Amino acid sequence: MTDNKVAAQASAHGAAVLLTEAESRYRLIAEHASDIVFATARDGVLLWMSPSASTVMGWDPTAMTGHRMREWLHPDDLAGWTPEVIAGFEAAGRVTYEGRWRRADGGWRWVAVTTRIVHDADGEVAGWVGSARDIEADVASREELAESRRRYELMVHNAADVIVVIRGGSVEWVSPSIHAALGYDHESFVGMAPEEVIHPDDIASMATRRARVLAGKPSIVRSRFRHADGRWVWMEAHGFLVQDETPLRGAMVAVWRVVDDQVALEGQLAHNAIHDPLTGLHNRTWLVDAIGGDLRAARRAGEPLAVLYVDLDDFKVVNDSLGHAAGDSLLKAIGQRIAGAVRPEDRVGRLGGDEFLVLARGWGQASEVRALADRVASACSRPKRVDHHELNPTVSIGIALSDEASTSASLLREADTALHQAKARGRGCSVLFDPTMMAEVVHRFVTGSELRAAIRGRELVVHYQPIVRLSDHRVVGHEALVRWQHPSRGLLAPGWFLPVAESDGLIADLDDLVLDDVCGLLADHPDLPGPISVNCSPVEIATPGWRDRFLGHLERRGVGPHRIVLEITETAVLSSAEDVRADLQRLRDVGVGVHLDDFGTGYSSLSLLGDLPVSGVKQDLSFTRRLVEEEHIARLSRGVAGLAQALGLIGIAEGVESADQARMVTELGWTHAQGYYFGRPTDVPAATVIAH
Ligand code: C2E
Ligand code: MG
Ligand code: MG
Repeated sequence: MTDNKVAAQASAHGAAVLLTEAESRYRLIAEHASDIVFATARDGVLLWMSPSASTVMGWDPTAMTGHRMREWLHPDDLAGWTPEVIAGFEAAGRVTYEGRWRRADGGWRWVAVTTRIVHDADGEVAGWVGSARDIEADVASREELAESRRRYELMVHNAADVIVVIRGGSVEWVSPSIHAALGYDHESFVGMAPEEVIHPDDIASMATRRARVLAGKPSIVRSRFRHADGRWVWMEAHGFLVQDETPLRGAMVAVWRVVDDQVALEGQLAHNAIHDPLTGLHNRTWLVDAIGGDLRAARRAGEPLAVLYVDLDDFKVVNDSLGHAAGDSLLKAIGQRIAGAVRPEDRVGRLGGDEFLVLARGWGQASEVRALADRVASACSRPKRVDHHELNPTVSIGIALSDEASTSASLLREADTALHQAKARGRGCSVLFDPTMMAEVVHRFVTGSELRAAIRGRELVVHYQPIVRLSDHRVVGHEALVRWQHPSRGLLAPGWFLPVAESDGLIADLDDLVLDDVCGLLADHPDLPGPISVNCSPVEIATPGWRDRFLGHLERRGVGPHRIVLEITETAVLSSAEDVRADLQRLRDVGVGVHLDDFGTGYSSLSLLGDLPVSGVKQDLSFTRRLVEEEHIARLSRGVAGLAQALGLIGIAEGVESADQARMVTELGWTHAQGYYFGRPTDVPAATVIAH
């Protein structure tokens, strides 16, 4: 018998044994329909294979019989199967491996193979029996997992951010990037408490944040961390608690990012926002804010806030002749000089251009503030060398002191007004604001076009102030006073816009509007006590046709001429031509009253009263104010009152603000009065009797 024949007989015998055994197993394994069950001879020749091979591998199991199993094993897997390894299989009695089998379509399929050796009755190796499970999906997902893990590791290890796992207050794991960020070796960092490297001042806020994180709320905090070399590094820490079912559950994961540059940049931006880059002083934004705060503080302390508006004289000349660099260096020097001349607690800033501002508190007296302004002015006027040129700078200063009613805007405006006055007086002057300067501001404050729109839009309203008879305080008439109900600036007195109306040729329209309102009111209230006085601008009286327009208003509304009084100033009549007098006389003839307003301010002679076609005279309020203190004013006032009486004119004392003044003007011979004491101008006429 040849060797082959012997082998074939042995195989056949082995197969018989195996099949009997396999039969009984088959039922068991059949339930796992997806697994391929197989039996081979000792040398690996397939004897039998379960039908599932067709679904898994696309094979016909019977056609495979007689082939050696290694024929469909992947060459890579086979490579490791040296004769020694195979001998080892037999010795172990079982083989398990994961490998690829070639499918009928030529593709590969991952299978997990488990085979066990089978012996015959004589204890000889009969062959192998085993099963192969399709693990294609497992392998794919395992590979995906490994890939994502590789990606994750790559990220964690190469990220600039430091990732830290903290458990029980100490570092359980940290990414190697801790070295780049803070200079620590990542292994030595494990086990440390983060507090060991956090700035003492930041520990409290860090602890609060950590409590938040542990309560399940993600949190971000910025703190300084100590670098291994000792310096402090700003880091932003994002923390969250791991709550899902992973080995990290319950740990706190923090991502630390170095934000040193960002913090520096933010600091710089915040600084730039409130500082002037040239002088390093505070800028306008900051100053305007500061005035508000200082004003409140000053009010609480019961003292005024002083605002000094400092302006470098002739700065344009320096800039134009020596160039901008020279201009800049002068501005810088002036900034330093101002700052050096005031107290450390005073605030100094640059408003822009060549304008600086000083805010000072604690000066109760105007004289003290003037002294401060003098110190600033003399510090600024020291000679200054710029590129071989010796400059002798001077500054003009406008000063404003706050009172109860001041706002940041009003104080700045007043200091600015005072500065304009100072400038008007020549180089190097300091001027303290006083309310009479406002008239000057008016031109810059209101524009003609704005006023024109206001007249058209009926934003102008008329207020009425009572005129009383002094003997019984009975209201005998009213004066109509125009106001501007400005949409943003509130109710404006005529001092704010009349000069503009006059200079821009709007005064006629304005007076027409007032007269029309007044006539309307008189027509609606035939029982209103006494006439209403209207003011008329000297400019208007001088325009041809004015008188007819005036009377036309009365006629249109059916208002009797005796119910209207025209107030004109003495200057208006004096400087006008003869026909103005004729016009006035005509008005008098038809019954319109004519009162000479603001008498005493125009330096005209008393005899004028007798010459003019007037029915009354109003003593200017500046006289009324001075009566009590200045005897010669009182004498003059008595003279005018006496003259008025002698000429049969109504004598009205304006600006009576107190009972003292009311008594005084009565004593001096004035029969009528007008003033806050009796009633302020209001949008409706006053009651008939003013009770005092
Ligand atoms: P005026 O004709 O001498 O009017 C009296 C001014 O003194 C009013 O100021 C009035 O509010 C104010 N006044 C009254 N009583 C007192 C007081 O007790 N104390 C103080 N400090 N002031 C008092 P207002 O309303 O600001 O008017 C200022 C000037 O504007 C008027 O002086 C008048 O010349 C002019 N004006 C007012 N309305 C008109 C108008 O409709 N047309 C024209 N052309 N001018 C007008
Ligand atoms: Mg008047
Ligand atoms: Mg007046």
